[in-house]
Amino acid sequence: MERSRIIKYCIRIYGDPVLKKRALLIEGINPEIRTLAQDMLETMYDAKGIGLAAQQIGKTLSICVIDIPVEADINEASERQNPEIEMPLVLIDPELFHLSKQTDSREEGCLSFPEIMGSVVRPSEIKIRYVDLKGQVRQFQACGLLARAIQHEVDHLNGILFIERMSQVKRVSLSGRLKRMRKKTAESIKTGSV
Ligand SMILES: [Zn+2]
Repeated sequence: MERSRIIKYCIRIYGDPVLKKRALLIEGINPEIRTLAQDMLETMYDAKGIGLAAQQIGKTLSICVIDIPVEADINEASERQNPEIEMPLVLIDPELFHLSKQTDSREEGCLSFPEIMGSVVRPSEIKIRYVDLKGQVRQFQACGLLARAIQHEVDHLNGILFIERMSQVKRVSLSGRLKRMRKKTAESIKTGSV
């Protein structure tokens, strides 16, 4: 049945306790999960993000969505990094089973932290195992921005936020803005506007 309306969720902002909760395994795909994945993609596109995890829409299920534009999937030599991985990705019950020793540092943003950017060091390459929307277990290797986005989203599913991976110096420099953000979120939760 075609749905007449796609739900765009409100994105939860830093300070919302749901962002610190760990996701529960989904273990079995049903129509509700397929609908949720579609709505998460729409919510992410609407917010102009490249990744979104369930906690960011107030749910504690192990599902995240990612869509890296082709033009962003390139290295310094302008070569495609992950040409065989089809976008968008819906990752259910994802599990990272290999992280490279080699790391790199790059500026990251997050839809739950409007206007905040900061460098995060992460392994350059990863291997991931997950369940797709057909219920099949799949795995692949990724590098570049895709590897980074996957690690950022899997962190969300574990209740870990990107600011926790920033340097102490950077966190101190952001502390005032983060405090204001937490306060504003707490106020909007209290008045019921979230
Ligand atoms: Zn994020």
